[in-house]
Amino acid sequence: MLTPYECRCGRSHLPTAGRWRCDCGGLLDLPLTPVRWPAPAEVPSLWRYLDGGDVPWREVSLGEGGTPLVEEDGALYLKVEYASPTGSFKDRGAVVLVALARALGATRLVADSSGNAGTAVAAYAARAGVPAEIFVPAGTSEKKLRQIRGHGAEVVVVEGSREDTAAAAIARVEETGAFYASHVYNPYFHEGTKTYSLEIFEQLGGVVPETLVLPAGNGTLVLGAHRGFAGLRAAGVIDRVPRIVAVQAERCAPLAAAWAAGAKEPEAVRPGGTIAEGIAIADPARGSRILEAVADTGGAFVTVGEEEIAEAHAALAARGLWVEPTGAVSYAAVRRLRAEGSPLVAEGPVVAPLCGSGLKASL
Ligand SMILES: [Zn+2]
Repeated sequence: MLTPYECRCGRSHLPTAGRWRCDCGGLLDLPLTPVRWPAPAEVPSLWRYLDGGDVPWREVSLGEGGTPLVEEDGALYLKVEYASPTGSFKDRGAVVLVALARALGATRLVADSSGNAGTAVAAYAARAGVPAEIFVPAGTSEKKLRQIRGHGAEVVVVEGSREDTAAAAIARVEETGAFYASHVYNPYFHEGTKTYSLEIFEQLGGVVPETLVLPAGNGTLVLGAHRGFAGLRAAGVIDRVPRIVAVQAERCAPLAAAWAAGAKEPEAVRPGGTIAEGIAIADPARGSRILEAVADTGGAFVTVGEEEIAEAHAALAARGLWVEPTGAVSYAAVRRLRAEGSPLVAEGPVVAPLCGSGLKASL
């Protein structure tokens, strides 16, 4: 599994505990690898889709992956990602990062998060026996803080924006040489989140969905989901990838704005404050990659308003599904696009994730 990182400057770097960006300052990527298919059935976790050969993942795993795909009607399916060990899809990436950190001999982890990635990294770090420090922005839900502390990680609350929180975490990484378990900077996170797509492909009986509707903040699910289907395409298993419709909150939509303007990079916005705290990212570091991934699928960006998110949240609850507000964003987009008669969701299967549990939000 230990594939070297690549930078767009042309350098490549073998993974080490202290490496989180290129010497040029650029982002690290991983080359697209064909997915091995079919996945061996005997491994009861998402590791069945990954070549974990060099990484001692069994001691770190909590059986993540394998979340339900619930049919809403003939065309729409909801993937119940909140039925993950720590209550969000971030477990998919966190388990890979923590297993990698352990394989690289890391003795300390640092992560920064608006909540769910932090709880996931804290849980897997506890499992791995590696101390972790989690940086969160002020205002993060008390339940998430209790969850992080309960796993034995240290919480550092940072006043200011989500970007200030990342800057504080990076300063600590630089000062201590800790492994930066970042769902934004470490591309191995997307090796984990790509299994979202591989499960959908299996659960639909080998059918490629028409459309994946996905929330987009830092793009961890958009990039992972794209990598999953692109990996199947590279392996010759499928010949087309599903269209990705990426959804942002109207009040914090740098990617949707860049898309509408035909720009290759997002311009930082001033966030207006949204109940979708999990995607309130004003200046996404991987913005250019997220725009490229959506373009590769013939997809689009859409935004949803606060009221639409709240209505979608209530509609899901009325159907037995209890998500945090951010977890209702994709469903809100599907409802609106259907009401508008948009061609983006005219044909099924359309798949939307329910990313995080309502039980950890302050509702
Ligand atoms: Zn570089």
